[in-house]
Amino acid sequence: MRKEIFEDKKVLVMGLGRFGGGVDVVKFAHKAGAKVIVTDTAPAEKLADSLKQLSDLDGIEYHLGSHSKTDFEQADIVVANPAVAPDNEFLEIARRFGKTITSQVEIFFELCPACIIGITGSNGKSTTTALTAHLLKDVRRQMTEDRGQKKRYGKVFLTGNIGNEPFLCLLEQIRKDDLVVIELSSFQVEHLARIKKMPQIALLTNLTPNHLDRYGIFENYCGAKELIFKFQKLDEKNPAVSIFNAGDKISNQWFEKYKNDKGRTCVRFSASDVSEEIKKHYKLPGWANLQNLAAALSITKCLGLTDEQIKNAVSTFKALPHRLELVADKDGIQWYNDSKSTTPDSAIVALQAFDRPVILIAGGYDKHLPFDALGVEIARRAKAAILIGQTAPKIAEAIQATSDERRVTKVIVANSLAEAVAAALKNAHRGDIILLSPACASYDMFENYEHRGREFARLALESK
Ligand code: ADP
Repeated sequence: MRKEIFEDKKVLVMGLGRFGGGVDVVKFAHKAGAKVIVTDTAPAEKLADSLKQLSDLDGIEYHLGSHSKTDFEQADIVVANPAVAPDNEFLEIARRFGKTITSQVEIFFELCPACIIGITGSNGKSTTTALTAHLLKDVRRQMTEDRGQKKRYGKVFLTGNIGNEPFLCLLEQIRKDDLVVIELSSFQVEHLARIKKMPQIALLTNLTPNHLDRYGIFENYCGAKELIFKFQKLDEKNPAVSIFNAGDKISNQWFEKYKNDKGRTCVRFSASDVSEEIKKHYKLPGWANLQNLAAALSITKCLGLTDEQIKNAVSTFKALPHRLELVADKDGIQWYNDSKSTTPDSAIVALQAFDRPVILIAGGYDKHLPFDALGVEIARRAKAAILIGQTAPKIAEAIQATSDERRVTKVIVANSLAEAVAAALKNAHRGDIILLSPACASYDMFENYEHRGREFARLALESK
């Protein structure tokens, strides 16, 4: 595929969405000279933010509120949002009419001239991706400053399924000797398998049951993740690098399966490989973040970088927003915003991150996940649990159901986040941690998890 294939073509962007993906595709295709039509089942009001970002582009047609069959019959190229299921009826129509169906990530991999480092997995993708890019960028800066050292690589780009980073719109800046660090969801990995293109350096953070609504059973989900290794290009002169988690059973099986391939180097990472010296420099709390560091270090090591070169960058890496992010530290109390925690498992990970007394704020929209294990962990580790939202009674019940006689966790139900913060502060002493790790989605009280996290940070900073 070359960029020119978009010129004068009718490109149908299916699914504009609200998270930037569609906007990036529209901008890219428009600049590449395509006639762009945008279609989304959502009406214009719901897409206002995305539409605003496109308001200065001329000649874009919008067919919003529903899809029309004719659009799919008449387009030359359909670019589908990753959220669209492969068996969608309109995609079937496009297929029947012999149209090219593609996606943002496929276009990127077709056109990117640089080495791509791809990170996928069930948890820790964003943190590992951002950390890897941060380390690589910092080393490059050092090398550029220190004229004696030859640069090993050009610029470093961070992109993919992460925040609102530009994606296809980056392509025109990327050169052959650059490095691209990209976060890939399992849906994006499946799209790439269609064109048999995968990152030259591929890392799987871990595997836990996820998205089973789409995959049915865990084995199918693993099958989708394995594609990232299966379709790497094997080349003896420039070997593919496949990086597995040494602590994960299925990853270890894959390591054994792939390790003898010609044209491929297999590597395993483990938190126990991280030196004490590097650990001292790392600010992010908890075992999960240590895993993410080990993962990122396995990549920098493959690229020939030493602990000495990266240790300063390790110390300047800050948690991503809403992921065990330290948002206030005052009067001896540390406030952590982990609003991204929308499942009981992630709240458990958060509770396990601290060895100081924790006051937990949890609860929210009910996704009907079980809270038993979280109840046990709260009873074991939190000195108080302040519960909000729809699930407050269920979490309270799970804490109370734990049979530990020595349980001393205080349980308080609050009517709002502001009330919860006030109750947390009332129960906090110097040396305590106030942790927002809701274990639930936010939709019952907030627009999204970011909104919830921002509110928490504001309340923390304003608290007296
Ligand atoms: P992802 O991009 O895969 O969602 P993030 O880096 O955004 O991952 O982290 C999201 C949440 O997942 C964190 O708040 C934390 O609770 C949990 N988490 C992060 N890293 C790991 C890990 N290595 N293992 C298990 N859970 C993790």
